[in-house]
Amino acid sequence: MFISFEGIDGSGKSTQAWRLAEMLRARGHDVVLTREPGGSPGAEEIRALVLQGDPGRWSAETELLLFTAARRDHMERTIQPALAAGKIVICDRFADSTRMYQGLSRGDLRPLVDLLHDRMIGREPDMTVLIDMDPAAGLARALSRADPDNRFEAFGQSLQDQMRAGFLALAQEFPDRFRVIDGNRDIDAVAQDVSAAVLDRLDA
Ligand code: C5P
Repeated sequence: MFISFEGIDGSGKSTQAWRLAEMLRARGHDVVLTREPGGSPGAEEIRALVLQGDPGRWSAETELLLFTAARRDHMERTIQPALAAGKIVICDRFADSTRMYQGLSRGDLRPLVDLLHDRMIGREPDMTVLIDMDPAAGLARALSRADPDNRFEAFGQSLQDQMRAGFLALAQEFPDRFRVIDGNRDIDAVAQDVSAAVLDRLDA
């Protein structure tokens, strides 16, 4: 089973992905917790290329190709082997982040994102947990722990608003795999809802 976590910056998805991995391991599952951009040695190198440097370093199209190359390597080296071995893969961001950040935030590249996804990645998660969060609260949280080497974290409120609306629209576009969880609550309450949603799907 392949589960992705999505949400705006500061939504708490990394914490929730980690909590879910711990819960499933405690129940005896073999779990691989991974993240994007990154998740394999080659993709982590590409992560450094895309996240560092000044904002104009790559054109929107080049950035999309770099993210797609990183995802392809991540799929080949980490995700597919784990799924083939019967493990549960939990991925902190996956293709939906590219549909949003590369597909929407720098112009309308969504058709190109979808084309590259079909040809180069070719698979969606079985389940996507969207941690939905008030954009201003998410931004405040993201800024309080901002990494100065990450040029993506300086985008501000309007990007957060656009991405939140975009993720909710994606959840409507793919209703079979998305579960939207209210992230405006304490960590335990959110984790409980995530666990219930995933166990429901695992038992189905
Ligand atoms: O999830 P994480 O905080 O590690 O993501 C790192 C940064 O990369 C975030 O600021 C996010 O907005 C950005 N990002 C992006 N496009 C993606 C994935 C992440 O711009 N496809």
